[in-house]
Amino acid sequence: MISKIIAEDLITKAKKAIDNVDKIVIVAHVGPDGDAIGASLALWHYLMTVEKEPVIIVPNPFPNFLAWMPGAECILDYESQKEKSDEMIASAELIFALDFNTASRLGDMADAVLIAPADKILVDHHLHPDTFAKIKISYPEISSTSELIFRLICRMGDFSMINLACAECIYTGMMTDTGGFTYNSNNQEIYTIIAELIKLGVDKDEIYRKVFNTYSVDRLRLMGFCLYHKMKVYPEYRAALITLTKKELDEFNYINGDAEGFVNIPLSIAGVDFSVFMREDTDKIKISFRSQGTFPANKVAADLFNGGGHLNAAGGESKLTLDDSVKKFEEALPDYQDFLE
Ligand code: 5GP
Ligand code: MN
Repeated sequence: MISKIIAEDLITKAKKAIDNVDKIVIVAHVGPDGDAIGASLALWHYLMTVEKEPVIIVPNPFPNFLAWMPGAECILDYESQKEKSDEMIASAELIFALDFNTASRLGDMADAVLIAPADKILVDHHLHPDTFAKIKISYPEISSTSELIFRLICRMGDFSMINLACAECIYTGMMTDTGGFTYNSNNQEIYTIIAELIKLGVDKDEIYRKVFNTYSVDRLRLMGFCLYHKMKVYPEYRAALITLTKKELDEFNYINGDAEGFVNIPLSIAGVDFSVFMREDTDKIKISFRSQGTFPANKVAADLFNGGGHLNAAGGESKLTLDDSVKKFEEALPDYQDFLE
């Protein structure tokens, strides 16, 4: 038995909102990850099954390792299809906002979504959701938005409408947002849900291989380069930092997603509980934070780099140079000593 996490009135409201419309736009956060794409596609498959007209629009392209997902070819990205996307957002009758808590996480797409007349339904698991959505299905204690989509569909009485494609997308989001069930994954109901998904035909081992074992040679060599030349360890702070300049990324023919997961690797060192990865982009430094135990990665992200996220997985950005961002990080490290276990 799976407990009723989502409040009954939210289920009723969401069901009514869906029943009343045809044109539904689904949006997810910038730099869409496995959970953003998994949740969006799972909802898309479900809405197709109940004969709606859903469209997924993400702010920028998703990484190649998610391209196999059923329906992924239908996803629009705002960066390259702005005009069409603007039109669809403006004429939507209902907008689902998945896997983010504040409109700013929509990047350049934020204004279009905010001014769209459609009612918005947020389905998310980040702390402190904004007020932009009329219906807020926000449960930070749930480890992925994809799991929330499963719960939402079931509670609307439509478990039987979850087809194999939908189930595969739900599983992918649940798997990627927990690092293959290695963190944030102690809730036993996760495994009850997985059992249901497997009954529907999901091959979990194959999905693992498709997501985690299909990288390019360039990515693997970049990973080796990072670990050998670019990883700094601060034993006294149980921390590690990896940085990559734009030039280094170019040398390894970097494409979107190639550095995905690098931030997790230093956590496998004994005595490292906090890991940071900085990547130089054209106009900013993108920063990822990961921690183990009670060390608040999201606090560091928010305090130093205008970011946020979960306790153990957070992100942010810096407008400083890469060197200055590193300096800011290193100078601040002693301030977080009290959080070390
Ligand atoms: P990642 O390191 O995989 O990009 O992000 C990990 C988590 O940190 C995301 O799921 C999201 O919750 C959060 N996050 C990433 N980037 C940002 C950001 O720029 N701002 C905020 N507020 N959160 C972020
Ligand atoms: Mn997520």
